[in-house]
Amino acid sequence: DEIKGASLEIDGLSKSFGGNQALKDVRLSAPPGRVTALIGPNGSGKTTLLNMVCGFYRTDSGTIKVGERQLQGSAPYRVARAGVARTFQTPNIPEGVTVLEAASSGRFSGHRASVFDAIFRTPRFRRVRAGDLHEAERALTLVGMSHLRDEEATSLPLGMRRLLEVARALVARPGVLLLDEVASGLDEDEVARLAGLIRRIRAAGGTVVLVEHNFRLVLDLADDIFVLAHGQVIASGPPEAIEKNPRVLSEYLGI
Ligand code: ADP
Repeated sequence: DEIKGASLEIDGLSKSFGGNQALKDVRLSAPPGRVTALIGPNGSGKTTLLNMVCGFYRTDSGTIKVGERQLQGSAPYRVARAGVARTFQTPNIPEGVTVLEAASSGRFSGHRASVFDAIFRTPRFRRVRAGDLHEAERALTLVGMSHLRDEEATSLPLGMRRLLEVARALVARPGVLLLDEVASGLDEDEVARLAGLIRRIRAAGGTVVLVEHNFRLVLDLADDIFVLAHGQVIASGPPEAIEKNPRVLSEYLGI
């Protein structure tokens, strides 16, 4: 089943926190049907970049485009409506809900029922809710977790909770999927599962942006890699080039 990926184009993006320049004139391009990885040492600006794409922080300068839409300066809900979904480093799953309910909550930003509809459980609300559950089931199938739909979500092992986070992001059928350190804390089998899932999303036409510490995984999965150091892109290109780039090896790996 198809995913309508949208291109993410970032140009001239800068951001300072007080006197500390977290991003300097960053350019990054993530096309559909490809996995674009963003790597760099701690403090290099990766999280800041994600937060700016999502509208959590204001840009000092530069442009962020998804498809033909300019998103810099847009509020988070507008960014979500424009089709950008993200996972968080710490899976944020409420207590006491099933896997299916947790996955369907990812639909919330795209809700077409009003608060009135929700409070009075109008037919419109029930229709929208049924649609959400349907989309959630589809996403759980895609991540290979549909057999766990009635389990309590917080009781799952970390690897499954991370896949659930991805399912939840996929529920909104995002044009751009931002994955923030999804592999951290996973064992080898879980990482392999996650890699398989990311490949399926790519094959279906999705746009995947992977912020990741696991350099091997990045080399294995990414089509294009952008390397940040001190808020600047110091190298970009395919894994074969990044792997051999002396500046990357010294700045990033400390070799
Ligand atoms: P990374 O995700 O690559 O580890 P970050 O984006 O978290 O890097 O941090 C980049 C720089 O921006 C760091 O110097 C960090 O201290 C600073 N920074 C990030 N967020 C904030 C904030 N909300 N307020 C002040 N400084 C911040």
